[in-house]
Amino acid sequence: MKNIDILIIGAGISGCVLAERYAAIGKKVLIIEKRNHIAGNCYDYIDGNGILVSKYGAHLFHTNEESVWKYVNKFSDWYPWEHKVIARVDNKTVPIPVNITTVNELFDINITNEEEMKIWLEENRMPIEKPSNGEEAVLNRVGTVLYEKMFKHYTKKQWDKYPAELDASVLERIPVRTNYDDRYFSDTYQALPKGGYTQLFEKILDHPNIEVVLETDYFDIKDQYTTYEKLFYTGPVDRFFEFTHGFLEKLEYRSINFVSETVDAEFFQENSVVNYPGTEVGFTRIIEYKHFGNQKSEKTTVVKEFTVDEGEPYYPVPNPRNQEVYAYYKTEADKLVDVHFVGRLANYKYFNMDQAFKNALDLFNQLEKDKKNIYKT
Ligand code: UDP
Repeated sequence: MKNIDILIIGAGISGCVLAERYAAIGKKVLIIEKRNHIAGNCYDYIDGNGILVSKYGAHLFHTNEESVWKYVNKFSDWYPWEHKVIARVDNKTVPIPVNITTVNELFDINITNEEEMKIWLEENRMPIEKPSNGEEAVLNRVGTVLYEKMFKHYTKKQWDKYPAELDASVLERIPVRTNYDDRYFSDTYQALPKGGYTQLFEKILDHPNIEVVLETDYFDIKDQYTTYEKLFYTGPVDRFFEFTHGFLEKLEYRSINFVSETVDAEFFQENSVVNYPGTEVGFTRIIEYKHFGNQKSEKTTVVKEFTVDEGEPYYPVPNPRNQEVYAYYKTEADKLVDVHFVGRLANYKYFNMDQAFKNALDLFNQLEKDKKNIYKT
């Protein structure tokens, strides 16, 4: 066994950022990754149609964090990309998040300004002071009709739970707009890496102090790696303790079954992402990758997303039961010295990409603060 200072389990956002930070201060870093590639769920590649596609679903970078934006720009050039999503509802195509156009289309009315839209929302929403779940969160914002048409069944398909069974935070990810703004996000920085995410992470890991071992399950070889200064674990938190404590109560995760097809046409749909919030189809959305970065190709690749219970864990499922189970794991995790749990799966939190970057950078800064190695932007 080689001498290593920092052992990292998982080569996703958190693992790669911590590897880069520790390598930069002279530590020897080893990353152990179960999959046959780096970049975690951001992994992308050029497919048979010559199109840059993401293996685990579209990843749209957006942030208000200056420090994160500066950090990611050190490793790739980025081009501006303001993501938009449309939804097929009642045989109509409308913008999501809900804005003036959405309401006009679906209710066949003619709102023309913010004031009228605010009045419409006041007349239709069901005011709930502190929404305690996803259903209340949506009813409070847009009322019952839009809840039924755009959120209830989409959420059931996505989570196999109705919004009432999920924390309000899940549905509150999507704003409601009183203007015509049809962007999915309103952050200051919205962009995609030129050359894709895999290249970005290759660059992040490009340091002589970093070694990456792929296709290796840490739990199969952990006895070989017992001496390190620090261990960063970015996998599912319950899996970590299952292997040290025997069987424990499992946390729920949702996975996605990506069904990809080639369509022999220049384009299949008019936008990168089209949501299907109704019950007429089983998938939640269709992604057409060539829209991202306006790629050119003779044919097009489309991917339908079906979310499922079994498979690789992508989404933690935030609700009171899971938070309670997670609290137990968190207590166990906090007892460990020099073992840190970081990222979406290890913290059981529905982080966006920029939050994952920020948490990893913050953790490094916090752990190394006394040693004056703080990352300065
Ligand atoms: N959602 C919905 N209808 C939509 C889009 C989203 O009901 O057309 C709900 C659904 O519960 C989803 C949540 O809002 O899980 C958050 O959506 P987001 O697009 O942020 O999910 P992600 O892109 O992370 O899968």
